[in-house]
Amino acid sequence: MSKTKKRLIISFTIIGAFIVLMIVFGAFFSLKNIYVDYATSTFRIEEYSKEDIVKTSGIKKGKNVLFMSFSKASAKLEKTFPYAKFEFVRTFPNKLTIYMSERTPVFRVLVNGKWQIYDRDLKLLEEVEPSNLEENNNDKVPVLSGKTLNYATSVGDTISDVLFQTQYCAIADGIVYGMKAPLSIVSDIAFNYNADTNIEEFTLTMRDSGAKILVQDENYLYEKVAYGVDIYLEKVSQNSEHVGHLDKILIRVLRNFDPHETDDGGELSSKRVSVYCSVCD
Ligand SMILES: [Zn+2]
Repeated sequence: MSKTKKRLIISFTIIGAFIVLMIVFGAFFSLKNIYVDYATSTFRIEEYSKEDIVKTSGIKKGKNVLFMSFSKASAKLEKTFPYAKFEFVRTFPNKLTIYMSERTPVFRVLVNGKWQIYDRDLKLLEEVEPSNLEENNNDKVPVLSGKTLNYATSVGDTISDVLFQTQYCAIADGIVYGMKAPLSIVSDIAFNYNADTNIEEFTLTMRDSGAKILVQDENYLYEKVAYGVDIYLEKVSQNSEHVGHLDKILIRVLRNFDPHETDDGGELSSKRVSVYCSVCD
């Protein structure tokens, strides 16, 4: 055999082996199964059909699992199934699971005669006629006021306002994680800039009584909210003095509140908080 022939045979063998490998690996990593599973407890996302989710994702069986990207699928799904958040997990060699978690409403605003319901990512989850507000407990979602946002124009869209989002989430988390209380204990959350004092103020109205908690300034917002709610739940609402007129109570968590400062013998420091009752005081 001549040298050239030998070389040719070797070259073809290498190319052939490469092609075989490509086919074998291609088949090996070719998507066979798409599963849809829940990553959280379900309330509203239960009604989304798993079949529809796979269909809407546009992800087709037979695609190479290694080279898949999910940004398009994610955008389509987020828009079509507004109450869900999606995560894509590949199990090599050939499985894909779409995990669905439920988005939680955190505030509502009245826009053009309809309640817009948003979650903490500022995603518009739903638009509700005022007459249907009680459905799915949407009436228990706190009303936001005093803040003008670039409201979403269609359900499933997300708006962007990083400062507001940070502040609002700090308030919501102060209640939910700081105090381990449901967000629904608050009926209204108002943002206000006090021009006299140059201080930003956040006022929470308690749903059960109408009592107000005013938090000054965004520093330690999470801790201030948790502290104010704690004072309301543990002290003010338990105080027999104010029975029947809790709506006349204003708890102020002051600007200079510092969570690292400790209470002296459990007494409230007047520098950190003030409780005012327009009936008793
Ligand atoms: Zn009173």
